[in-house]
Amino acid sequence: MMPFTLETARSEADALRAAAQGARFIAGGTTLVDLMREHVEQPVRLVDINALPLSQIGIDADVLAIGALARMADVAAHPLVTRLHPLIAESIVEGATPQLRNMASIGGNLLQRVRCPYFRMLDAACNKRDPGSGCAANEGRHGGHAILGRSEHCCAAHPSDLAVALVALDATVRVRGAHGEREFPVEALYRLPGDTPHLEHTLEPGEMIVEIRVPPLPWSTTGRYLKVRDRESYEFALVSAAAALQVRDGVIAGARLACGGVGTRPWRMRAAETWLRGHPANRSSFEAAAAICIADASPLPGNRFKVELLRRTVIRTLELAGERS
Ligand SMILES: Cc1cc2nc3c(=O)[nH]c(=O)nc-3n(C[C@H](O)[C@H](O)[C@H](O)COP(=O)(O)OP(=O)(O)OC[C@H]3O[C@@H](n4cnc5c(N)ncnc54)[C@H](O)[C@@H]3O)c2cc1C
Repeated sequence: MMPFTLETARSEADALRAAAQGARFIAGGTTLVDLMREHVEQPVRLVDINALPLSQIGIDADVLAIGALARMADVAAHPLVTRLHPLIAESIVEGATPQLRNMASIGGNLLQRVRCPYFRMLDAACNKRDPGSGCAANEGRHGGHAILGRSEHCCAAHPSDLAVALVALDATVRVRGAHGEREFPVEALYRLPGDTPHLEHTLEPGEMIVEIRVPPLPWSTTGRYLKVRDRESYEFALVSAAAALQVRDGVIAGARLACGGVGTRPWRMRAAETWLRGHPANRSSFEAAAAICIADASPLPGNRFKVELLRRTVIRTLELAGERS
């Protein structure tokens, strides 16, 4: 490991000051420390933000507000979360392991790095780790990689399960930095790789996530998160879907749908949502919506199976949401 300094922020001002001077935030450390051990990331200065009062989970003006330092396990088990937005709880429980979920923070989860093996393989070409070096995954092993939003420069799939659920629910992220506070959709936190895959998110240097805010949605109680992967635990999604349905007299009045494991960022399926509205809540509608979801897929030779897997996962998740509605 490279030498680095570690300081503890006692106040948000301390943390932001250190970050403005180039320090990296560390919360649970379950992503960052791994990457430092593997020499993929080499920050020389870390600021531990765990002492900051950012672990709250509560209702603020009808909005579910989750502090950035709330632990994944605490959020998944919180009665407000399981009652109001079960798909958030499901997306968290489906991720990582109990030990990791006890350590890992919500803010860190949203900013975890991709799981492309070449990103962590220092002698492989990776435009994300080493801009301009190329993309070994495009020619190499890419079974788990993206079929939506990829470019010739990067095809790594976005890894966070929670982010998929939050994008489906129109959640926002509140951040603070040297220029004050701002709030924007979680969806807008993530960039497409294009020809700059090393730029993954839209935070300004030194900005800290302080809170996630999930607006009220009465029929979010129908929400389901379904994750398909190579093994049942301790594994990232090949394909996942977060769905919620509002059904009146057998007809869909509202739909939310986002998918994971398939996109270079969490992928909201707005065209399918629009199509579903006004159609009956049955298998043939769900099949039609799934066909819309796969229409723009552009797989690589090694991950063509994901197109059919996405189609089936969307249908099943909509069926599960329909059963709850
Ligand atoms: C074996 C394994 C399996 C896993 N499986 C899954 C899975 O199936 N699904 C899934 O979603 N995740 C999975 N994960 C990822 C895990 O959820 C993340 O490692 C964890 O959520 C990161 O949170 P953290 O607090 O430990 O982040 P840290 O490692 O502390 O930080 C991660 C990054 O976020 C930055 N950061 C942290 N907090 C803030 C903040 N408040 N503001 C701004 N920047 C911040 C850090 O600087 C760093 O760049 C897995 C991890 C491992 C090791």
